[in-house]
Amino acid sequence: MVSKRTSQVVGSFSGGAGKVPPHKHCRICHEAISIKAEPRVCKDPACLEKHEQDEKNQKTVRIAMFIFFGLFAIPYLLTLVMNIVG
Ligand SMILES: [Zn+2]
Repeated sequence: MVSKRTSQVVGSFSGGAGKVPPHKHCRICHEAISIKAEPRVCKDPACLEKHEQDEKNQKTVRIAMFIFFGLFAIPYLLTLVMNIVG
């Protein structure tokens, strides 16, 4: 259910040919950004906006999943308790 966007892994740790300094990529447009960049987006306002929207979506999905899980878990736990008590 959780789709993780795989980011490009820089394989320069174990003696790669590339001499690319450590950096990150904007998760929206994949442009190289500072390793300290937080959130992980470039300075493009469009990317920032997209990132914010994604954050909001993720939060909504998380809450929805929590409620969804709760709807299943609570009756299950209740029957479990009833079985133990009864
Ligand atoms: Zn970007």
